[in-house]
Amino acid sequence: MAVQPFHDRDGWIWMDGEFVPHREAKVHVLTHAMHYASCVFEGERAYGGVVFKSREHSERLIHSGKLMGFRVPFDAVEIDRAKRELIVKNGWEDCYIRALAWRGSEQLGVSAKHNTIHAAIAAWQWGDYFADKMKGIRLMIAPWRRPAPDTAPSNAKAAGLYMICTLSKHAAEDAGFNDALMFDWRGQIAEATGANIFFIRDGVIHTPTPDCFLNGLTRQTVIALARQAGIEVVERAIFPNELATFSEAFLTGSAAEITPIREIAGMPFKPGATTERLVQDFVALTRRKARAEAAA
Ligand code: PMP
Repeated sequence: MAVQPFHDRDGWIWMDGEFVPHREAKVHVLTHAMHYASCVFEGERAYGGVVFKSREHSERLIHSGKLMGFRVPFDAVEIDRAKRELIVKNGWEDCYIRALAWRGSEQLGVSAKHNTIHAAIAAWQWGDYFADKMKGIRLMIAPWRRPAPDTAPSNAKAAGLYMICTLSKHAAEDAGFNDALMFDWRGQIAEATGANIFFIRDGVIHTPTPDCFLNGLTRQTVIALARQAGIEVVERAIFPNELATFSEAFLTGSAAEITPIREIAGMPFKPGATTERLVQDFVALTRRKARAEAAA
């Protein structure tokens, strides 16, 4: 079945405070964000009609805007409400949500201090981010590295930072892999192109310190779940020569949820008891939160 393109779908999109029919949610081609990547965004999931970590995502959107030098013209309470209303209006229980904010079209040069800031929220039904999710995915090493924190605002979920992610993901797909593992500017292991990474050795979890990439909300959730389950979690610098010493590995992200890895550039990994336990706990948490909020 052909996938319906994103500009040509039914439903509603929230835009600058109003709901507009999906096909009418348009911006002009001379929009600053289009030319200079002055856009920040969020990717979220709703389970059972409840947006997981909605407030944290809304606050991160506002914070990303701040890091880009602009004020998102809605507060977290308003953004949360818009997300809730949007999924009800579209009639979905389980869906993916994309909130974004960007500089408009008053000025179209490098400087854009006086541009209006716009915001929108869209949603769509999206199953697993990776088709082979539970079989485990294959990663190659990305041809691009995460930039140093003094060369880009690495804590912002900013559109411009995804240029090297798309290039890396395309390189991986062209070579027959599902995704790419990005090193950072020091050569340490950083993350995948849209998700954080974890490794397991002898029942202990190791994950890179997020000092030049997004400290994902799913990453933070999984670390808390692991510690609750009595599993030790070590956040530290991890170098590529350690890869062969780990037995399990997985990615985390709002879209990817917990995705087991079965290969990184020829090195095999086998999803085992620790990964399985965390997948179960994550599923239970997202569904429990949904049930609890629905009952409240
Ligand atoms: N890193 C990158 C580059 C991402 O795009 C994402 C997805 N937003 C993540 C990490 C994971 O973040 P989160 O768990 O908050 O979705």
